[in-house]
Amino acid sequence: MPDIHLLDAVTIGQIAAGEIIERPQSVVKELVENAVDAGAARVTVIVERGGVERIEVIDDGEGIAPDQLPLAVRRHATSKLSIASDLESVATLGFRGEGLASIAAVANVQVLSRTPEAEFGSKVIAHGERASAVEPAASPRGTHIVATELFANVPVRREYLKSASAEFTRISAWLSMFALAYPHVTFTLRHDGADVWVMPSTGDERERLAMVFGREAASALIPLEDDAARMLDGRVRGFISSPGSDRGDRRMQLLFVNGRLLRSTLMAGAWTAGYSTFAMVGRHPYGVLFLDLPPEHVDPNVHPTKSDVRLRFNNQVFDAVRRAISATLRNHATARFTSATGSTVSFAPPGIEGAPAHVQSLFADGVGDPDEVPRHRLRVLSQLHRTYILASDGDGLLLVDQHAAHERIAYESIVERAREAAPSEPLLVPIVVELDGVQSVALERAVELLREGGLEIEEFGERTYRILATPAGYGARPFDLQGFLDDLTGEPRIRDVRERIWASLACHSVTTAGETLDTSEMTTLVERLQVCANPMHCPHGRPTMVRLSPDDIGRMFKRI
Ligand code: ADP
Ligand code: MG
Repeated sequence: MPDIHLLDAVTIGQIAAGEIIERPQSVVKELVENAVDAGAARVTVIVERGGVERIEVIDDGEGIAPDQLPLAVRRHATSKLSIASDLESVATLGFRGEGLASIAAVANVQVLSRTPEAEFGSKVIAHGERASAVEPAASPRGTHIVATELFANVPVRREYLKSASAEFTRISAWLSMFALAYPHVTFTLRHDGADVWVMPSTGDERERLAMVFGREAASALIPLEDDAARMLDGRVRGFISSPGSDRGDRRMQLLFVNGRLLRSTLMAGAWTAGYSTFAMVGRHPYGVLFLDLPPEHVDPNVHPTKSDVRLRFNNQVFDAVRRAISATLRNHATARFTSATGSTVSFAPPGIEGAPAHVQSLFADGVGDPDEVPRHRLRVLSQLHRTYILASDGDGLLLVDQHAAHERIAYESIVERAREAAPSEPLLVPIVVELDGVQSVALERAVELLREGGLEIEEFGERTYRILATPAGYGARPFDLQGFLDDLTGEPRIRDVRERIWASLACHSVTTAGETLDTSEMTTLVERLQVCANPMHCPHGRPTMVRLSPDDIGRMFKRI
Protein backbone atom coordinates (compact mmCIF):
# COMPACT_ATOMS: atom_id res chain seq x y z
CA MET A 1 0.00 0.00 0.00
CA PRO A 2 1.26 3.49 -0.83
CA ASP A 3 1.92 5.95 2.00
CA ILE A 4 -0.88 8.10 3.32
CA HIS A 5 -0.57 11.65 2.00
CA LEU A 6 -2.66 14.80 1.99
CA LEU A 7 -4.65 15.45 -1.17
CA ASP A 8 -3.78 18.51 -3.20
CA ALA A 9 -6.14 21.50 -3.15
CA VAL A 10 -7.47 20.92 -6.67
CA THR A 11 -8.52 17.35 -5.86
CA ILE A 12 -10.09 18.43 -2.56
CA GLY A 13 -12.03 21.09 -4.44
CA GLN A 14 -13.28 18.58 -6.99
CA ILE A 15 -14.42 16.15 -4.32
CA ALA A 16 -16.28 18.88 -2.45
CA ALA A 17 -17.80 20.14 -5.69
CA GLY A 18 -18.93 16.62 -6.49
CA GLU A 19 -21.42 16.77 -3.66
CA ILE A 20 -22.99 19.99 -4.84
CA ILE A 21 -22.53 20.09 -8.59
CA GLU A 22 -23.91 16.89 -10.01
CA ARG A 23 -25.10 18.14 -13.35
CA PRO A 24 -25.84 21.36 -15.27
CA GLN A 25 -29.10 21.81 -13.36
CA SER A 26 -27.11 22.03 -10.10
CA VAL A 27 -25.11 24.94 -11.52
CA VAL A 28 -28.31 26.71 -12.51
CA LYS A 29 -29.74 26.09 -9.05
CA GLU A 30 -26.74 27.58 -7.22
CA LEU A 31 -26.61 30.63 -9.49
CA VAL A 32 -30.35 31.31 -9.50
CA GLU A 33 -30.57 30.94 -5.73
CA ASN A 34 -27.74 33.47 -5.40
CA ALA A 35 -29.61 35.87 -7.69
CA VAL A 36 -32.77 35.56 -5.58
CA ASP A 37 -30.74 36.04 -2.39
CA ALA A 38 -29.36 39.23 -3.98
CA GLY A 39 -32.91 40.56 -4.31
CA ALA A 40 -33.10 40.36 -8.11
CA ALA A 41 -36.35 41.31 -9.86
CA ARG A 42 -35.23 39.73 -13.15
CA VAL A 43 -33.27 36.54 -13.57
CA THR A 44 -32.24 35.35 -17.02
CA VAL A 45 -30.81 31.88 -17.58
CA ILE A 46 -29.02 31.21 -20.87
CA VAL A 47 -27.95 27.67 -21.61
CA GLU A 48 -26.02 26.07 -24.45
CA ARG A 49 -26.06 22.37 -25.29
CA GLY A 50 -28.01 21.40 -22.19
CA GLY A 51 -25.65 23.46 -20.06
CA VAL A 52 -22.55 21.32 -20.65
CA GLU A 53 -21.13 23.91 -23.04
CA ARG A 54 -22.21 27.08 -21.28
CA ILE A 55 -24.50 28.37 -18.54
CA GLU A 56 -25.11 32.07 -17.96
CA VAL A 57 -27.19 33.61 -15.22
CA ILE A 58 -27.87 37.34 -15.31
CA ASP A 59 -29.59 39.22 -12.50
CA ASP A 60 -30.34 42.80 -11.51
CA GLY A 61 -29.72 42.25 -7.81
CA GLU A 62 -27.49 44.13 -5.40
CA GLY A 63 -24.25 43.04 -7.06
CA ILE A 64 -20.82 42.35 -5.59
CA ALA A 65 -18.32 45.12 -4.75
CA PRO A 66 -14.87 44.83 -6.48
CA ASP A 67 -13.01 44.13 -3.25
CA GLN A 68 -15.45 41.30 -2.47
CA LEU A 69 -15.15 39.57 -5.84
CA PRO A 70 -12.09 37.42 -5.08
CA LEU A 71 -13.79 36.21 -1.90
CA ALA A 72 -17.04 35.35 -3.65
CA VAL A 73 -15.34 32.56 -5.59
CA ARG A 74 -13.40 31.27 -2.56
CA ARG A 75 -14.64 28.21 -0.71
CA HIS A 76 -16.35 28.85 2.64
CA ALA A 77 -16.67 32.54 1.86
CA THR A 78 -20.15 33.96 2.24
CA SER A 79 -21.85 37.23 3.11
CA LYS A 80 -24.84 35.37 4.50
CA LEU A 81 -23.48 33.87 7.70
CA SER A 82 -20.93 35.31 10.06
CA ILE A 83 -20.96 33.28 13.25
CA ALA A 84 -21.75 29.62 13.78
CA SER A 85 -24.92 30.40 15.72
CA ASP A 86 -26.31 32.07 12.58
CA LEU A 87 -26.58 28.54 11.22
CA GLU A 88 -29.63 28.13 13.43
CA SER A 89 -31.50 30.94 11.77
CA VAL A 90 -30.66 30.85 8.07
CA ALA A 91 -33.06 33.10 6.16
CA THR A 92 -31.31 33.02 2.77
CA LEU A 93 -31.18 30.20 0.24
CA GLY A 94 -27.38 30.05 0.32
CA PHE A 95 -25.17 30.10 3.40
CA ARG A 96 -22.39 27.57 2.91
CA GLY A 97 -20.23 29.80 0.76
CA GLU A 98 -19.57 26.86 -1.52
CA GLY A 99 -21.71 27.53 -4.57
CA LEU A 100 -19.40 29.61 -6.71
CA ALA A 101 -16.24 27.83 -5.53
CA SER A 102 -17.74 24.46 -6.38
CA ILE A 103 -18.76 25.58 -9.84
CA ALA A 104 -15.24 26.95 -10.37
CA ALA A 105 -13.81 23.59 -9.31
CA VAL A 106 -15.46 21.84 -12.26
CA ALA A 107 -15.82 24.66 -14.84
CA ASN A 108 -14.43 27.97 -16.02
CA VAL A 109 -16.25 30.75 -14.22
CA GLN A 110 -16.43 34.42 -15.01
CA VAL A 111 -18.14 36.77 -12.57
CA LEU A 112 -19.05 40.25 -13.77
CA SER A 113 -20.84 42.51 -11.32
CA ARG A 114 -21.74 46.04 -10.36
CA THR A 115 -23.28 47.34 -7.15
CA PRO A 116 -25.89 50.14 -7.45
CA GLU A 117 -23.56 52.80 -6.04
CA ALA A 118 -20.49 51.87 -8.17
CA GLU A 119 -19.81 53.67 -11.41
CA PHE A 120 -18.10 50.72 -13.10
CA GLY A 121 -18.42 47.06 -12.80
CA SER A 122 -15.61 44.61 -12.24
CA LYS A 123 -14.86 41.05 -13.17
CA VAL A 124 -12.91 38.04 -12.04
CA ILE A 125 -12.20 34.71 -13.73
CA ALA A 126 -11.86 31.58 -11.64
CA HIS A 127 -10.95 28.02 -12.47
CA GLY A 128 -9.99 25.23 -10.10
CA GLU A 129 -8.26 26.83 -7.15
CA ARG A 130 -7.00 29.81 -9.16
CA ALA A 131 -8.64 33.19 -9.58
CA SER A 132 -7.53 36.06 -11.81
CA ALA A 133 -6.93 39.57 -10.55
CA VAL A 134 -10.06 41.74 -10.38
CA GLU A 135 -10.36 44.01 -13.42
CA PRO A 136 -12.70 46.88 -14.08
CA ALA A 137 -15.32 46.12 -16.72
CA ALA A 138 -18.45 47.74 -18.08
CA SER A 139 -21.51 46.16 -16.51
CA PRO A 140 -25.16 46.96 -15.87
CA ARG A 141 -26.27 46.89 -12.27
CA GLY A 142 -26.37 43.34 -10.98
CA THR A 143 -24.39 40.17 -11.53
CA HIS A 144 -23.64 38.19 -14.67
CA ILE A 145 -22.03 34.81 -14.22
CA VAL A 146 -20.81 32.59 -17.04
CA ALA A 147 -19.78 28.98 -16.49
CA THR A 148 -18.25 27.15 -19.45
CA GLU A 149 -16.87 23.70 -20.19
CA LEU A 150 -18.61 21.98 -17.33
CA PHE A 151 -16.80 18.87 -16.05
CA ALA A 152 -14.07 19.23 -18.73
CA ASN A 153 -11.60 18.25 -16.00
CA VAL A 154 -13.85 15.51 -14.57
CA PRO A 155 -14.48 13.18 -17.54
CA VAL A 156 -16.29 10.61 -15.36
CA ARG A 157 -18.92 13.14 -14.41
CA ARG A 158 -19.27 14.27 -17.95
CA GLU A 159 -19.87 10.76 -19.23
CA TYR A 160 -22.51 10.24 -16.61
CA LEU A 161 -24.60 13.10 -17.98
CA LYS A 162 -27.61 12.40 -20.17
CA SER A 163 -28.15 13.91 -23.60
CA ALA A 164 -28.11 17.69 -23.95
CA SER A 165 -31.87 17.75 -24.35
CA ALA A 166 -32.42 15.62 -21.25
CA GLU A 167 -30.13 17.88 -19.22
CA PHE A 168 -31.93 20.90 -20.56
CA THR A 169 -35.30 19.41 -19.59
CA ARG A 170 -34.10 19.09 -16.02
CA ILE A 171 -32.98 22.71 -15.99
CA SER A 172 -36.27 23.91 -17.41
CA ALA A 173 -38.34 21.77 -15.04
CA TRP A 174 -36.39 22.84 -11.98
CA LEU A 175 -36.43 26.53 -12.89
CA SER A 176 -40.15 26.63 -13.64
CA MET A 177 -41.00 24.86 -10.38
CA PHE A 178 -38.65 27.09 -8.42
CA ALA A 179 -40.35 30.13 -9.98
CA LEU A 180 -43.60 29.15 -8.25
CA ALA A 181 -42.30 30.54 -4.98
CA TYR A 182 -41.13 33.83 -6.52
CA PRO A 183 -43.99 35.22 -8.60
CA HIS A 184 -42.69 38.80 -8.24
CA VAL A 185 -39.48 37.83 -10.08
CA THR A 186 -39.37 37.62 -13.88
CA PHE A 187 -37.63 34.45 -15.03
CA THR A 188 -36.43 33.95 -18.58
CA LEU A 189 -34.94 30.77 -20.01
CA ARG A 190 -33.02 30.58 -23.30
CA HIS A 191 -31.51 27.51 -24.90
CA ASP A 192 -29.19 27.41 -27.90
CA GLY A 193 -30.01 30.93 -28.96
CA ALA A 194 -33.81 30.78 -28.63
CA ASP A 195 -36.17 31.97 -25.90
CA VAL A 196 -37.73 28.86 -24.37
CA TRP A 197 -40.04 30.57 -21.95
CA VAL A 198 -40.54 33.78 -20.02
CA MET A 199 -42.45 34.03 -16.76
CA PRO A 200 -43.24 37.69 -16.32
CA SER A 201 -43.41 38.94 -12.77
CA THR A 202 -47.00 38.74 -11.58
CA GLY A 203 -49.14 39.46 -8.58
CA ASP A 204 -51.32 36.49 -9.49
CA GLU A 205 -49.86 33.19 -8.35
CA ARG A 206 -52.32 31.32 -10.55
CA GLU A 207 -50.49 32.43 -13.68
CA ARG A 208 -47.39 30.66 -12.43
CA LEU A 209 -49.41 27.60 -11.50
CA ALA A 210 -50.71 27.36 -15.05
CA MET A 211 -47.18 27.51 -16.46
CA VAL A 212 -45.91 24.77 -14.20
CA PHE A 213 -48.87 22.40 -14.00
CA GLY A 214 -50.45 23.17 -17.37
CA ARG A 215 -53.70 25.13 -17.79
CA GLU A 216 -56.04 22.23 -17.29
CA ALA A 217 -54.37 20.72 -14.25
CA ALA A 218 -53.93 24.18 -12.73
CA SER A 219 -57.63 24.94 -13.10
CA ALA A 220 -58.37 21.98 -10.82
CA LEU A 221 -56.18 23.42 -8.05
CA ILE A 222 -57.93 24.79 -4.99
CA PRO A 223 -56.24 27.12 -2.52
CA LEU A 224 -55.39 25.65 0.82
CA GLU A 225 -57.57 27.38 3.38
CA ASP A 226 -55.81 29.88 5.54
CA ASP A 227 -57.85 29.37 8.65
CA ALA A 228 -57.22 25.68 8.65
CA ALA A 229 -53.57 26.21 7.88
CA ARG A 230 -52.67 28.28 10.90
CA MET A 231 -50.38 26.33 13.13
CA LEU A 232 -48.17 26.71 16.10
CA ASP A 233 -45.29 28.83 14.88
CA GLY A 234 -45.54 29.00 11.17
CA ARG A 235 -47.90 28.68 8.34
CA VAL A 236 -48.66 26.51 5.36
CA ARG A 237 -50.14 27.90 2.18
CA GLY A 238 -50.57 26.36 -1.19
CA PHE A 239 -52.77 24.83 -3.81
CA ILE A 240 -54.00 21.25 -3.92
CA SER A 241 -55.80 19.32 -6.63
CA SER A 242 -59.51 18.85 -6.13
CA PRO A 243 -60.72 15.25 -5.63
CA GLY A 244 -61.05 13.46 -8.95
CA SER A 245 -58.07 15.29 -10.46
CA ASP A 246 -54.95 13.33 -9.84
CA ARG A 247 -51.87 11.73 -11.33
CA GLY A 248 -50.22 8.34 -11.46
CA ASP A 249 -47.21 9.46 -9.42
CA ARG A 250 -46.13 11.92 -6.78
CA ARG A 251 -43.77 13.97 -8.88
CA MET A 252 -46.00 17.01 -8.92
CA GLN A 253 -46.46 17.19 -5.18
CA LEU A 254 -44.20 20.19 -4.81
CA LEU A 255 -42.92 21.49 -1.52
CA PHE A 256 -41.16 24.70 -0.57
CA VAL A 257 -39.82 25.11 2.93
CA ASN A 258 -38.89 28.72 3.57
CA GLY A 259 -38.48 29.30 -0.17
CA ARG A 260 -36.45 26.17 -0.86
CA LEU A 261 -37.78 23.62 -3.32
CA LEU A 262 -37.39 20.25 -1.61
CA ARG A 263 -38.41 16.63 -1.58
CA SER A 264 -39.75 15.28 1.67
CA THR A 265 -41.01 11.82 2.49
CA LEU A 266 -42.67 13.26 5.57
CA MET A 267 -44.79 15.62 3.48
CA ALA A 268 -45.61 12.89 0.96
CA GLY A 269 -47.15 11.10 3.93
CA ALA A 270 -49.06 14.23 4.92
CA TRP A 271 -50.57 14.50 1.42
CA THR A 272 -51.76 10.91 1.62
CA ALA A 273 -53.13 11.26 5.11
CA GLY A 274 -54.79 14.56 4.26
CA TYR A 275 -56.57 13.20 1.21
CA SER A 276 -57.40 9.90 2.86
CA THR A 277 -60.48 8.66 1.02
CA PHE A 278 -60.64 11.80 -1.12
CA ALA A 279 -57.87 10.55 -3.38
CA MET A 280 -58.86 8.25 -6.20
CA VAL A 281 -57.57 4.85 -5.21
CA GLY A 282 -54.06 4.30 -6.55
CA ARG A 283 -53.75 7.86 -7.80
CA HIS A 284 -51.95 10.82 -6.31
CA PRO A 285 -53.06 14.38 -5.76
CA TYR A 286 -50.79 17.16 -6.98
CA GLY A 287 -50.13 20.74 -6.11
CA VAL A 288 -47.72 22.91 -4.20
CA LEU A 289 -47.26 23.56 -0.50
CA PHE A 290 -45.37 26.51 0.88
CA LEU A 291 -44.26 25.91 4.43
CA ASP A 292 -43.06 29.00 6.21
CA LEU A 293 -41.45 28.12 9.49
CA PRO A 294 -39.28 30.06 11.89
CA PRO A 295 -35.72 29.62 10.53
CA GLU A 296 -34.59 28.09 13.80
CA HIS A 297 -37.11 25.27 13.32
CA VAL A 298 -35.53 24.23 10.04
CA ASP A 299 -32.13 22.67 9.65
CA PRO A 300 -31.20 23.00 6.00
CA ASN A 301 -27.67 21.92 6.72
CA VAL A 302 -28.21 18.16 6.44
CA HIS A 303 -27.74 17.79 2.72
CA PRO A 304 -25.12 19.51 0.54
CA THR A 305 -27.59 20.43 -2.18
CA LYS A 306 -30.10 21.28 0.55
CA SER A 307 -32.63 19.05 -1.19
CA ASP A 308 -33.88 17.62 2.08
CA VAL A 309 -34.41 19.45 5.34
CA ARG A 310 -34.75 18.37 8.89
CA LEU A 311 -37.68 19.95 10.71
CA ARG A 312 -38.01 20.49 14.41
CA PHE A 313 -41.53 19.72 15.61
CA ASN A 314 -41.85 17.23 12.81
CA ASN A 315 -45.13 15.83 14.09
CA GLN A 316 -46.80 19.18 14.52
CA VAL A 317 -45.88 20.16 10.98
CA PHE A 318 -47.09 16.85 9.60
CA ASP A 319 -50.34 17.23 11.49
CA ALA A 320 -50.92 20.84 10.51
CA VAL A 321 -50.42 20.02 6.84
CA ARG A 322 -52.65 16.98 7.03
CA ARG A 323 -55.37 18.95 8.79
CA ALA A 324 -55.13 21.87 6.38
CA ILE A 325 -55.49 19.54 3.40
CA SER A 326 -58.40 17.57 4.78
CA ALA A 327 -60.27 20.65 6.05
CA THR A 328 -59.88 22.29 2.64
CA LEU A 329 -61.16 19.18 0.89
CA ARG A 330 -64.09 18.81 3.25
CA ASN A 331 -65.19 22.39 2.75
CA HIS A 332 -64.67 22.09 -0.97
CA ALA A 333 -66.82 18.95 -1.08
CA THR A 334 -69.58 20.59 0.93
CA ALA A 335 -69.55 23.61 -1.35
CA ARG A 336 -69.74 21.40 -4.43
CA PHE A 337 -72.47 19.35 -2.90
CA THR A 338 -74.75 22.25 -2.08
CA SER A 339 -74.10 24.21 -5.26
CA ALA A 340 -77.01 23.99 -7.63
CA THR A 341 -74.93 23.47 -10.77
CA GLY A 342 -74.60 19.71 -10.33
CA SER A 343 -71.20 18.11 -10.46
CA THR A 344 -69.76 16.27 -13.39
CA VAL A 345 -67.32 13.42 -13.23
CA SER A 346 -64.40 12.99 -15.54
CA PHE A 347 -64.11 9.23 -15.30
CA ALA A 348 -64.88 6.61 -17.88
CA PRO A 349 -68.57 5.72 -17.88
CA PRO A 350 -69.28 2.80 -15.56
CA GLY A 351 -70.18 -0.64 -16.84
CA ILE A 352 -73.36 -1.84 -15.19
CA GLU A 353 -74.17 -5.20 -16.72
CA GLY A 354 -76.20 -7.46 -14.53
CA ALA A 355 -77.71 -4.73 -12.39
CA PRO A 356 -81.51 -4.58 -12.05
CA ALA A 357 -83.19 -2.08 -14.36
CA HIS A 358 -84.07 0.43 -11.68
CA VAL A 359 -80.45 0.46 -10.56
CA GLN A 360 -79.17 0.76 -14.13
CA SER A 361 -81.17 3.94 -14.52
CA LEU A 362 -79.45 5.30 -11.48
CA PHE A 363 -76.13 5.14 -13.24
CA ALA A 364 -77.31 5.75 -16.77
CA ASP A 365 -76.50 9.44 -16.57
CA GLY A 366 -72.82 8.64 -16.35
CA VAL A 367 -72.77 7.29 -19.90
CA GLY A 368 -71.68 9.56 -22.73
CA ASP A 369 -69.40 12.54 -22.48
CA PRO A 370 -68.80 12.79 -18.78
CA ASP A 371 -68.05 16.48 -19.00
CA GLU A 372 -71.36 17.30 -20.58
CA VAL A 373 -73.85 15.07 -18.84
CA PRO A 374 -74.39 15.89 -15.19
CA ARG A 375 -74.49 12.74 -13.11
CA HIS A 376 -77.42 11.91 -10.91
CA ARG A 377 -76.57 13.57 -7.67
CA LEU A 378 -76.73 11.30 -4.69
CA ARG A 379 -77.35 13.03 -1.44
CA VAL A 380 -76.02 11.31 1.63
CA LEU A 381 -78.61 11.60 4.37
CA SER A 382 -77.20 9.75 7.28
CA GLN A 383 -75.23 6.81 8.55
CA LEU A 384 -77.31 3.99 10.02
CA HIS A 385 -76.04 1.71 12.72
CA ARG A 386 -72.48 2.75 11.79
CA THR A 387 -72.79 0.20 8.97
CA TYR A 388 -74.99 1.59 6.23
CA ILE A 389 -75.09 4.84 4.35
CA LEU A 390 -78.56 6.20 3.76
CA ALA A 391 -78.71 8.26 0.57
CA SER A 392 -81.25 9.59 -1.88
CA ASP A 393 -81.11 10.33 -5.57
CA GLY A 394 -84.16 12.56 -5.32
CA ASP A 395 -86.53 9.73 -6.30
CA GLY A 396 -85.73 6.66 -4.31
CA LEU A 397 -83.97 5.75 -1.13
CA LEU A 398 -80.64 4.03 -1.24
CA LEU A 399 -78.97 1.89 1.39
CA VAL A 400 -75.26 1.37 0.86
CA ASP A 401 -73.25 -1.14 2.84
CA GLN A 402 -70.17 0.92 3.71
CA HIS A 403 -67.79 -1.99 4.01
CA ALA A 404 -68.96 -3.79 0.88
CA ALA A 405 -68.83 -0.54 -1.09
CA HIS A 406 -65.34 0.37 0.02
CA GLU A 407 -64.22 -3.18 -0.63
CA ARG A 408 -65.46 -2.99 -4.20
CA ILE A 409 -63.66 0.31 -4.80
CA ALA A 410 -60.42 -1.02 -3.31
CA TYR A 411 -60.69 -4.29 -5.19
CA GLU A 412 -61.03 -2.61 -8.55
CA SER A 413 -58.08 -0.41 -7.92
CA ILE A 414 -55.94 -3.31 -6.71
CA VAL A 415 -56.75 -5.33 -9.81
CA GLU A 416 -56.01 -2.34 -11.99
CA ARG A 417 -52.77 -1.66 -10.19
CA ALA A 418 -51.67 -5.27 -10.37
CA ARG A 419 -52.16 -5.03 -14.12
CA GLU A 420 -49.89 -2.01 -14.40
CA ALA A 421 -47.75 -3.03 -11.40
CA ALA A 422 -47.72 0.51 -10.03
CA PRO A 423 -46.18 1.30 -6.65
CA SER A 424 -47.86 1.22 -3.31
CA GLU A 425 -48.08 3.68 -0.47
CA PRO A 426 -45.26 3.52 2.08
CA LEU A 427 -46.40 3.43 5.69
CA LEU A 428 -44.95 6.09 7.96
CA VAL A 429 -44.36 3.47 10.58
CA PRO A 430 -44.03 -0.15 9.39
CA ILE A 431 -46.38 -2.65 11.01
CA VAL A 432 -44.76 -5.70 12.58
CA VAL A 433 -46.90 -8.86 12.93
CA GLU A 434 -46.20 -12.23 14.43
CA LEU A 435 -47.95 -15.20 12.85
CA ASP A 436 -48.66 -18.78 13.84
CA GLY A 437 -47.47 -21.72 11.75
CA VAL A 438 -50.63 -22.10 9.67
CA GLN A 439 -50.78 -18.39 8.98
CA SER A 440 -47.15 -18.09 7.91
CA VAL A 441 -47.55 -20.98 5.45
CA ALA A 442 -50.62 -19.27 4.02
CA LEU A 443 -48.70 -16.02 3.76
CA GLU A 444 -45.74 -17.62 1.99
CA ARG A 445 -48.10 -18.93 -0.66
CA ALA A 446 -49.82 -15.62 -1.20
CA VAL A 447 -46.91 -13.27 -0.85
CA GLU A 448 -46.14 -12.76 -4.54
CA LEU A 449 -49.72 -11.90 -5.41
CA LEU A 450 -49.94 -9.64 -2.41
CA ARG A 451 -46.95 -7.74 -3.69
CA GLU A 452 -48.51 -7.42 -7.11
CA GLY A 453 -51.55 -6.01 -5.37
CA GLY A 454 -49.53 -3.30 -3.68
CA LEU A 455 -48.74 -4.76 -0.27
CA GLU A 456 -45.06 -4.52 0.56
CA ILE A 457 -44.12 -7.09 3.14
CA GLU A 458 -40.85 -8.61 4.25
CA GLU A 459 -39.66 -11.28 6.64
CA PHE A 460 -38.44 -9.85 9.89
CA GLY A 461 -37.39 -12.82 11.97
CA GLU A 462 -39.01 -16.17 12.55
CA ARG A 463 -42.70 -16.03 11.60
CA THR A 464 -42.48 -12.29 12.10
CA TYR A 465 -43.19 -9.98 9.20
CA ARG A 466 -42.97 -6.32 8.57
CA ILE A 467 -45.46 -4.46 6.39
CA LEU A 468 -43.76 -1.49 4.75
CA ALA A 469 -46.44 -0.31 2.36
CA THR A 470 -50.11 -0.93 1.76
CA PRO A 471 -52.15 -0.65 -1.43
CA ALA A 472 -52.03 3.00 -2.46
CA GLY A 473 -54.85 5.18 -1.25
CA TYR A 474 -55.21 3.54 2.15
CA GLY A 475 -52.04 4.84 3.80
CA ALA A 476 -54.14 6.23 6.58
CA ARG A 477 -55.72 2.89 7.44
CA PRO A 478 -53.75 0.10 9.12
CA PHE A 479 -53.84 -3.16 7.21
CA ASP A 480 -55.32 -6.10 9.12
CA LEU A 481 -52.91 -8.91 8.22
CA GLN A 482 -54.25 -11.35 10.82
CA GLY A 483 -57.78 -10.98 9.52
CA PHE A 484 -56.51 -11.33 6.00
CA LEU A 485 -54.80 -14.63 6.76
CA ASP A 486 -57.80 -16.02 8.64
CA ASP A 487 -59.70 -15.29 5.46
CA LEU A 488 -57.23 -17.19 3.32
CA THR A 489 -57.10 -20.21 5.58
CA GLY A 490 -60.88 -20.32 6.01
CA GLU A 491 -63.65 -21.36 3.65
CA PRO A 492 -62.94 -20.34 0.06
CA ARG A 493 -65.67 -18.09 -1.29
CA ILE A 494 -64.07 -17.24 -4.60
CA ARG A 495 -62.79 -19.89 -6.99
CA ASP A 496 -59.81 -18.16 -8.55
CA VAL A 497 -56.93 -17.90 -6.03
CA ARG A 498 -55.67 -14.71 -7.56
CA GLU A 499 -59.06 -13.05 -7.26
CA ARG A 500 -59.51 -14.48 -3.82
CA ILE A 501 -56.25 -13.04 -2.57
CA TRP A 502 -56.94 -9.65 -4.06
CA ALA A 503 -60.47 -9.62 -2.73
CA SER A 504 -59.13 -10.37 0.75
CA LEU A 505 -56.48 -7.72 0.36
CA ALA A 506 -59.20 -5.22 -0.49
CA CYS A 507 -61.41 -6.44 2.34
CA HIS A 508 -58.83 -5.85 5.03
CA SER A 509 -57.57 -2.53 3.75
CA VAL A 510 -60.84 -0.65 4.02
CA THR A 511 -63.57 0.78 6.23
CA THR A 512 -65.29 -1.80 8.37
CA ALA A 513 -68.83 -2.00 9.66
CA GLY A 514 -69.05 -0.23 12.98
CA GLU A 515 -66.80 2.63 11.91
CA THR A 516 -68.29 6.10 12.20
CA LEU A 517 -67.96 8.02 8.94
CA ASP A 518 -68.61 11.71 8.46
CA THR A 519 -70.71 13.07 5.61
CA SER A 520 -67.78 13.91 3.38
CA GLU A 521 -66.30 10.45 3.79
CA MET A 522 -69.66 8.89 2.96
CA THR A 523 -70.11 11.18 -0.03
CA THR A 524 -66.68 10.28 -1.38
CA LEU A 525 -67.40 6.61 -0.90
CA VAL A 526 -70.70 6.77 -2.74
CA GLU A 527 -69.27 8.92 -5.53
CA ARG A 528 -66.45 6.51 -6.06
CA LEU A 529 -68.70 3.51 -5.97
CA GLN A 530 -70.70 5.05 -8.79
CA VAL A 531 -67.69 4.95 -11.12
CA CYS A 532 -66.73 1.36 -10.39
CA ALA A 533 -66.95 -1.11 -13.24
CA ASN A 534 -69.20 -3.28 -11.12
CA PRO A 535 -70.69 -1.05 -8.44
CA MET A 536 -73.42 -3.41 -7.32
CA HIS A 537 -71.45 -6.14 -5.60
CA CYS A 538 -68.46 -6.47 -3.34
CA PRO A 539 -65.73 -8.82 -4.60
CA HIS A 540 -67.22 -11.59 -2.45
CA GLY A 541 -70.50 -11.18 -4.26
CA ARG A 542 -72.52 -9.53 -1.53
CA PRO A 543 -74.64 -6.57 -2.65
CA THR A 544 -73.12 -3.15 -2.01
CA MET A 545 -76.46 -1.37 -2.09
CA VAL A 546 -80.22 -1.74 -2.31
CA ARG A 547 -82.64 0.87 -3.58
CA LEU A 548 -86.24 1.48 -2.65
CA SER A 549 -87.95 3.07 -5.65
CA PRO A 550 -90.97 5.40 -5.25
CA ASP A 551 -93.08 2.39 -6.33
CA ASP A 552 -91.56 0.20 -3.64
CA ILE A 553 -92.29 2.88 -1.09
CA GLY A 554 -95.78 3.42 -2.52
CA ARG A 555 -96.55 -0.28 -2.03
CA MET A 556 -95.44 -0.11 1.59
CA PHE A 557 -97.92 2.67 2.21
CA LYS A 558 -100.62 0.88 0.23
CA ARG A 559 -100.82 3.66 -2.31
CA ILE A 560 -100.34 1.19 -5.16
P1 ADP B 1 -23.45 31.34 -0.57
O1 ADP B 1 -24.57 31.60 -1.50
O2 ADP B 1 -23.64 30.10 0.22
O3 ADP B 1 -23.13 32.51 0.29
P2 ADP B 1 -21.84 31.29 -2.95
O4 ADP B 1 -20.50 30.68 -3.24
O5 ADP B 1 -22.97 30.85 -3.77
O6 ADP B 1 -22.13 31.05 -1.42
O7 ADP B 1 -21.69 32.86 -3.05
C1 ADP B 1 -20.69 33.47 -2.29
C2 ADP B 1 -21.03 34.94 -2.04
O8 ADP B 1 -20.97 35.65 -3.28
C3 ADP B 1 -22.43 35.18 -1.54
O9 ADP B 1 -22.49 35.07 -0.14
C4 ADP B 1 -22.73 36.58 -2.03
O10 ADP B 1 -22.21 37.53 -1.15
C5 ADP B 1 -21.95 36.66 -3.32
N1 ADP B 1 -22.79 36.41 -4.50
C6 ADP B 1 -22.84 35.29 -5.25
N2 ADP B 1 -23.70 35.41 -6.27
C7 ADP B 1 -24.23 36.66 -6.18
C8 ADP B 1 -25.18 37.41 -6.95
N3 ADP B 1 -25.79 36.88 -8.04
N4 ADP B 1 -25.45 38.67 -6.56
C9 ADP B 1 -24.86 39.20 -5.47
N5 ADP B 1 -23.96 38.54 -4.71
C10 ADP B 1 -23.63 37.31 -5.05
MG1 MG C 1 -25.01 30.41 -3.12
